[in-house]
Amino acid sequence: GRRVVVVGAGLAGVQTVVELRGQGWDGAVTLLGAERHQPYDRPPLSKAALLAPDDESALHAAALDIDFAELDAELLLGRAATGLDAAGRRLHTDAGPLDYDHLVLATGAEPVTLPGTRDVPGVHLLRTLDDARALRPVLAARGSVVAVGAGWIGAEVATAAAAAGCRVTVVEAAHHPLPGALPPEITEPMRRWYAAAGAELRTGQRVTAVRSGEVELADGTVLGADAVLVGVGSRPATGWLAGSGVELAPDGSVSADAGLRTGVPDVYAVGDCASYPSARYGRRLLVHHWDNALQGPRTVAAGILGATAVHDPVPYFWSEQFGRHVQYAGRRGEGPAAGEETLVTRGDPAGDGPWAACWLDPAGRLVAVLAVDQPRDLTQGRRLVERGTPLDARLLADPSVPLKAA
Ligand code: FAD
Repeated sequence: GRRVVVVGAGLAGVQTVVELRGQGWDGAVTLLGAERHQPYDRPPLSKAALLAPDDESALHAAALDIDFAELDAELLLGRAATGLDAAGRRLHTDAGPLDYDHLVLATGAEPVTLPGTRDVPGVHLLRTLDDARALRPVLAARGSVVAVGAGWIGAEVATAAAAAGCRVTVVEAAHHPLPGALPPEITEPMRRWYAAAGAELRTGQRVTAVRSGEVELADGTVLGADAVLVGVGSRPATGWLAGSGVELAPDGSVSADAGLRTGVPDVYAVGDCASYPSARYGRRLLVHHWDNALQGPRTVAAGILGATAVHDPVPYFWSEQFGRHVQYAGRRGEGPAAGEETLVTRGDPAGDGPWAACWLDPAGRLVAVLAVDQPRDLTQGRRLVERGTPLDARLLADPSVPLKAA
C-alpha cells in the first residue's frame, strides 16, 4: 500500500495525520517524533505548565487529546530524522531508514541561544516539555528569574514567575516590550502590566555576559538569577535537510509553494519549519504561530489526496500576559500601505479595561487588529481583515459600536 511519513510530532505533524484521515486517506500513516513524550501542545508550556505542582500535572496541562490507534497511525517516538534521500524516497533516521510515498516535513523550530551560554548552568530555553519541566522547580521554589527578551515568551514566563512569587527581571535590548510585533504607541502602556505584577522591565539594555547565577548588563548592572530564561526567538529546525535537495530559504525555513509542496516530488512542509508565498501579502511568509500549524495541514492533506488547495490565512496569534488575554490578527507594515497605516484605538490602552487597536490602510481597510481582553473585536476584526472591506474610522473609534464593515 501507499505510505505517508510525517516528520515531527508537534501540532503540525499531529494535525496532518488528523486531516489525512479526515479527508479520506486510507493508506498507511507513520508519524515520527524526536521527543520521547506523547505528542503535546506548546502554548501551555509558558503558561499553566510552569505553575503546575508537579511534572505529571505539567504534562497534563500540555496534553493533546488524540487517539492514534483510532486514527490507525503508527507513532514512532524518540526517533529523529537525520537525512533524506529524495530520489530513493527514503528518510534516514537515527534508528534506520523509512521508505515513503509522500513525506511531510513538520519539524518545527528551535529556540535561538545567546552565544556562549549553552552549557552555563541555570540558563534555560523554553521550547519543549522537558524545558518547561526544568524551569518549573525554580518557580515553585520562588527563585529569582531573569528573562532575556521581552517578546511573547519572555512576557509569559515573567507572568508565570511573578504569579509564583519569584523576583522577576525582564531585560530587553529594544526600547519597548514586544518590539518585533507591535509599535511603541501600543507597547509603551504595557510597561504598567509588568510593574503592576511586580516584574521589573529593563528596556534598552543589552546582556553582555551570562554566568552561572548571574547576568551582566551593558550598563554594568549585575543581576542575580536562579534561572535565566533566554527568549530571543526561534529558527526552523531544518539543519538535518542540508544536502537533501530540499530548498531552504535564507531564514532557514523549507521553501514551500502555495500548496505547501517543496520542490522535491511528493515532499510537503508545514508549520514552524516552512515558509510559503502569500498572495495576500505579496511575499514569502514564515509564521511561527499555533494557528498556522493548525491550518496548514488541511492544505497538505488535500495535496496528498490529489486536490488543489492553497495555504494563505490571515495570520492569528494569542498570548496570555499579566492576567490579560492578548490576541493579534493580520499584519502591519506590509505592502504598498506600509508606514501609511492609521491606528485607531477602541478603549484605553493605558487603562485596566478591555481595549483594541485597529490599523487601517489608506483605503480604510483593516489590515491588523490587536485585542486585549476583547475577543469579540478580534473575531470580527479577523473577518474584516480577511474580507478587506473599508471601515468607517469614526465609528471604529467608539468601542460601544461593534466592529463591522461600513
Ligand atoms: P513544533 O511544535 O516545534 O513541533 C515540531 C516537532 O518536531 C517537535 O516535537 C520536534 O521535537 C520534532 N522534530 C524536530 N526535528 C526533528 C527530526 N529531525 N526528527 C524528528 N522529529 C523532529 N503560538 C500561539 O499562537 N499562541 C501561544 O500562546 C503560543 N505559545 C507558545 C509557547 C511556547 C513555549 C512555544 C515554544 C510556542 C508557542 N506558540 C504559541 C507557538 C506554537 O506553539 C508553534 O507555532 C507550534 O507549536 C508550531 O507547531 P509545529 O508542529 O510546526 O512545530
